[in-house]
Amino acid sequence: MFDKILIANRGEIALRILRAAKELGIATVAVHSTADADAMHVRLADESVCIGPPAARDSYLNIPSIIAACEITGADAVHPGYGFLSENARFAEVLAHHQIGFIGPKAEHIRIMGDKIEAKRTALRLGIPCVPGSEGGVETGDEAKRVAAEIGYPVLVKAASGGGGRGMKVARTEADLDQAIGMARSEAKAAFGDDAVYLEKYLEKPRHIEVQVLGDGQGGAVHLAERDCSLQRRHQKVWEEGGSPALNEAMRAEIGGICANAMKELGYLGAGTVEFLYEEGRFYFIEMNTRIQVEHPVTEMITGIDLVIEQIRVAAGAPLSVSQSDIRVEGHAIECRINAEDPETFRPSPGLITYYHPPGGLGVRVDSAAFQGYRIPPNYDSLIGKLIVHGRTRNECLMRLRRALDEFVIDGVDTTLPLFRALVRNQDVQNGMYDIHWLETALASGG
Ligand code: ADP
Repeated sequence: MFDKILIANRGEIALRILRAAKELGIATVAVHSTADADAMHVRLADESVCIGPPAARDSYLNIPSIIAACEITGADAVHPGYGFLSENARFAEVLAHHQIGFIGPKAEHIRIMGDKIEAKRTALRLGIPCVPGSEGGVETGDEAKRVAAEIGYPVLVKAASGGGGRGMKVARTEADLDQAIGMARSEAKAAFGDDAVYLEKYLEKPRHIEVQVLGDGQGGAVHLAERDCSLQRRHQKVWEEGGSPALNEAMRAEIGGICANAMKELGYLGAGTVEFLYEEGRFYFIEMNTRIQVEHPVTEMITGIDLVIEQIRVAAGAPLSVSQSDIRVEGHAIECRINAEDPETFRPSPGLITYYHPPGGLGVRVDSAAFQGYRIPPNYDSLIGKLIVHGRTRNECLMRLRRALDEFVIDGVDTTLPLFRALVRNQDVQNGMYDIHWLETALASGG
């Protein structure tokens, strides 16, 4: 097992990793930018190192500074969390070169899944159902027109290096196609420095359903059921729940089994998420994330398995602590991403938290690095905490979530708490009747 883990991240996920390391008896090193000198992850870690100025590219994304921090502190492994360097294959390789463990997948798998064209090719080979689309990238307008005619309009032009919903454009007819490709290419070039695009059938009313997997890197792998993340705004997840209101036990076992078998064949190491769109009883692979995800607590609440501890174990060469037959889904969980944002305009609202009172009680979990007197810096994303609630049934979970949201007090900055208080009282949400467009439509109509 590792002796000392350096956490190359900040905010709630840095705390989450710290907790897992402490439970395993592993020492921790926090790294931080100058903007985060007072942050909770810095206070709670055994040691801390300042790695640069506020801008992420100079601190949390600065590989030489992070390697230097490992060498100064003698850390023998790095946990990258999510975002920042978590899906950077070169980072994993540089760490290996310095004989420092990377708590994440093999570099080759990060690389494959980071290129969406390559990821889809791999998924198809592994027997995972995919969205109909181009085989590989599309180069010319004529080629795109041929493919689009074959799969049928509307089609979605997507960037091979895409992320965060950027570089995606819908073409409803052939007349829109050239422009959609041009826009997707220039957006992708600007955001990712790569203008490769591919085509997919645009699904009109899908749900977003994703399967959590864990692999030991040696051909052992399990799935831990699904999360439904259909409530999204601008392709960003807002509310996640597990299991999906749209699936039953047999469907879960089937899609989960397909994913676990694919991970066995790949020799996948660590935690990962296989993301699908789901429409009319069918699953369509869209991408795989090779990291721990923001919404992982939903899965932890329904399975009782600590995903970060499993990540650390397998990265150190230990076996998974569970086999498929040990994993059972108990009850229902919902996560709300609480952002420091105006709940109507979604404009970021950094600043001083003057009063902070999180909810508690049975089945309530708050993952947050916020506290009274904390000043949220303007330099990073606006997630300040996650409220995760568990109940024996979906209905119990909703009732508990409603009262937990009413208990939560965060003063001094705007937060998205009012949005969730409205959502939990909404009839469609209560009935689980929503697709990936539901939230934007509801927000646009003032509902
Ligand atoms: P990113 O990596 O940018 O998040 P994804 O491929 O995961 O991109 O897609 C993000 C979101 O875009 C999905 O959750 C879904 O809302 C929408 N989307 C992606 N592909 C399609 C598709 N073929 N049809 C309809 N919507 C899609």
